[in-house]
Amino acid sequence: MKYDIIIIGAGAAGLMAMKELLADGYRVCMLEAAPNSGGRIMTLKEKGFKTPVEAGAEFIHGNLPLTLSLLQYAGIPFEPVEGKMITVHKGEWDPGQEHEEHWAKLMKTLRKLKKDMTIRTFLGEYFPGTEYKELREATRRFAEGFDLADTGKASILSVRKEWEHEEQMQYRIPGGYCQLTDYLLRLCRRRGGKIYFNSCARNIHFEKGKVLVKTRDKLKFEASRLIVTVSAGVLRSGMLHFNPGLGAHQAAIRQLGFGSVIKFLLQFKNPFWKGRGIGFLFSDEPIPTWWTQRPEKNNLLTGWLGGPAAAKMSSEKEGSLLQLALGSLASLFQMKGAELKSQLSHYKIIRWEKQPYILGGYSYNTIYSEKAIEVLTQPVEDTIFFAGEALYTGEFQGTVEAALQTGLEVAKKIRKMDK
Ligand SMILES: Cc1cc2nc3c(=O)[nH]c(=O)nc-3n(C[C@H](O)[C@H](O)[C@H](O)COP(=O)(O)OP(=O)(O)OC[C@H]3O[C@@H](n4cnc5c(N)ncnc54)[C@H](O)[C@@H]3O)c2cc1C
Repeated sequence: MKYDIIIIGAGAAGLMAMKELLADGYRVCMLEAAPNSGGRIMTLKEKGFKTPVEAGAEFIHGNLPLTLSLLQYAGIPFEPVEGKMITVHKGEWDPGQEHEEHWAKLMKTLRKLKKDMTIRTFLGEYFPGTEYKELREATRRFAEGFDLADTGKASILSVRKEWEHEEQMQYRIPGGYCQLTDYLLRLCRRRGGKIYFNSCARNIHFEKGKVLVKTRDKLKFEASRLIVTVSAGVLRSGMLHFNPGLGAHQAAIRQLGFGSVIKFLLQFKNPFWKGRGIGFLFSDEPIPTWWTQRPEKNNLLTGWLGGPAAAKMSSEKEGSLLQLALGSLASLFQMKGAELKSQLSHYKIIRWEKQPYILGGYSYNTIYSEKAIEVLTQPVEDTIFFAGEALYTGEFQGTVEAALQTGLEVAKKIRKMDK
């Protein structure tokens, strides 16, 4: 069958675009390399965990319009995250005022900054000297942890907005984020969309108004247009071969920032952290960031390592990574490693760089991203379109909201072209 539109990728962006285009009456099919939908929304339902757990996206970072309206429309409940944000520095929990004062000064300088530069250049230029050594370290840890950024490439102006909104309300979806993509998938099917799982797109031949996609299993799909929603990591990897080549688009792909992340899900028999009101812990341990499931009563601790450190550790053996995680917790809670290990009932470590159809975590803006995104959001020959979280230009970068927004945008663009 010949389709109007083929979409590659059943993540948030692809499903959102598909739902919109089906509603407009287009005949749409979707190719997804994995056996299921969701992409980086990956809720695990394993026996060893007390409840479904999030290997990928977990939080709704603020009052995000599209995500929250979809959840409300679908009747999927979400709840505010609770607990204190605690910094642990050199074994000291919530170390005094100095950190706060320096951070306030950094934000003040940042607000006045006009010219873009990398985070590393900014720190070196405006906060040199030994008195700011801790600030430079803390800022690097924050940029790597939260944004997965390489501070030698990431744009300081683009993180400014996000760092100002740090204190926003956060939510979780009890039962799992997958309920959102399951809902979108159901809508697409109900509207007649055809979805092919285990179908890894490989070769794309195109000319104006005509696309032929061949999968790894040599299946062929034809359409008038194609929307590609794979991650920046997959785009960069060359997994998709375009014929003819993409020229400026290919060059733009290389300018995007795409970080690495390792997520640690540790289920314990007893909540040894209880009584301290912990929501999040930010530390200088090898696995620096940890969080609880508050307000849910669950003996799960989640560890997070992002940015270049995660890229470096992604090839380590699972046993070494577990040791590192337990060692970090033992140091934070001043417990013996063996005691902690005996408390562990189940675990999962997800190295996102090794996920074969994702190849990383999420995007951050380099000093070249703005121009690159401008190029990539223009279709090639009015036929090949790109969407996905890496192509979002608003203030919620690297999120599910970003992915959904780009899915909506690409559908709008196609609708407008055909008017
Ligand atoms: C560990 C982690 C934690 C995160 N935490 C949060 C969070 O708390 N809150 C938040 O809002 N966001 C979070 N994010 C980011 C969020 O998950 C992503 O921004 C969003 O899910 C991306 O959606 P997407 O549709 O753009 O891409 P994807 O979800 O990557 O979808 C692309 C799809 O394309 C498929 N694909 C790839 N190659 C091919 C091919 N050749 N042929 C066919 N199909 C292919 C993939 O299998 C995938 O399903 C997190 C991400 C990670 C990795």
